[in-house]
Amino acid sequence: MAVGFSMTAGRRTRRAVHSFALLAGCALAPLAAQAQDAAPAAKPVVLHCPALLDSVAGKMLGQSSVVVQGDRVTEVAAGYVTRPDAEVVELPAGDTCLPGLIDAHVHISMEFTPTIYSDMLHFNQADWVVRSTVWAKRTLLGGFTTVRNLGDSHYETVALRDQITKGWVAGPRILTAGPAIGSTGGHADDGDGLRMDLQPDVGAHDSIINGTADAWKAVREHYKQNVDTIKIMTTGGVLDLSGSVDNSQLTEEETKALVAAAHEYGYIVGVHAHGAEGIRRAVVAGADSIEHGTFMDAQDMKLMKEHGTYYVPTIYTGTYVTEKAKGNPHAYPPAVQAKALMVGPQLMKTVGDAYKAGVKFAYGTDAGVFPHGTTGRTSPAGPVGHAGDVHPADGHHQRGHPAEEGQGHRQHRRPEIRRHRRRARRSDQGHHLMGKVDFVMKGGVVFKKGGAEQVFTSTAH
Ligand SMILES: [Zn+2]
Repeated sequence: MAVGFSMTAGRRTRRAVHSFALLAGCALAPLAAQAQDAAPAAKPVVLHCPALLDSVAGKMLGQSSVVVQGDRVTEVAAGYVTRPDAEVVELPAGDTCLPGLIDAHVHISMEFTPTIYSDMLHFNQADWVVRSTVWAKRTLLGGFTTVRNLGDSHYETVALRDQITKGWVAGPRILTAGPAIGSTGGHADDGDGLRMDLQPDVGAHDSIINGTADAWKAVREHYKQNVDTIKIMTTGGVLDLSGSVDNSQLTEEETKALVAAAHEYGYIVGVHAHGAEGIRRAVVAGADSIEHGTFMDAQDMKLMKEHGTYYVPTIYTGTYVTEKAKGNPHAYPPAVQAKALMVGPQLMKTVGDAYKAGVKFAYGTDAGVFPHGTTGRTSPAGPVGHAGDVHPADGHHQRGHPAEEGQGHRQHRRPEIRRHRRRARRSDQGHHLMGKVDFVMKGGVVFKKGGAEQVFTSTAH
């Protein structure tokens, strides 16, 4: 899986920020990346960055040159240098370059538009797929060069991933879980809330399990469809049409079986969980990350520290759905509305508590619940930056590193996400680096320059 070090260039004012995302196994970071991307230009490109955020060391560097050869960053040099035959790109004064950003929790083949609940009944798979190519491009132009897709409908993001990798369409690198795995009537069951004749009795083949044998079958089915990672749902959720957001929806045995099966096949496991008991079951089963974690309690936090489980709180989305529900009593169907009003404030409190307790964080947004491509704009400090005592600069670390942990295959997992709070406070411009992204490079290809989308001409054949 191509997992790259990325960079972003941003202007140090609240309004004007530029970002470019370079992809690559970069000289700044010892990351392995495979050459799976679109054909690179032969000439080296040298980017002149007025400032450069080294997110590994947690430092802001001054004028720097980033040398890109093909789809790799081959060198980072202090000051402005050039190389033989190189094309030099001068980024404007005030820009800061940073790694291409990584969102560890997106749904790139759906978006909660005002008509989504009826669209679900009218759209064919092809409609979603066509739209997903637009959402993928918007995500990339927003500065995110890698995403972990935690849940689709029918493995459509596997196809999207492959066609982006082959250079047919523009988008970020995708590590996808395919459909999320859950139980009958649970958050993963698309039949919830529909007329009974619209509720097929689906099973493990369709990612709905009941029992440990089903758990293994569902994971094996995902392996067969060539996913990168596994997503399971141990509790209720906000946006489905059932009543509970936090009840447990997988037994301890089912959870253990799913995690064991996923690990057996080399996958890391991201767990959708709002309720304390569902979180506990996932953590003791050896899951790799807890997503949302709204009602996480002190025991869960202690266990997560012991097990090294990451927390991906998707804070911005928690607040987004609450604000949307407050602003419009008909924003969501009634069952969803009630849950949406509850989660935002609770999630903010939990995130502060988890941070203080020393739980490891990774950055993920749940993009798709809010419009794709707006992530940087809507959360300039990173969602984590707004919660409790969590410092915004930590959000940058969270953005920079989840790729390293290999959102897909387990052999890459568990590097540390470092915290540099003291240093970060000295470079508070990190708060607003993502306010305006205007240069994006991925795999050596420039997708955005001077704030303008560049024409992407596929050379795939
Ligand atoms: Zn999600």
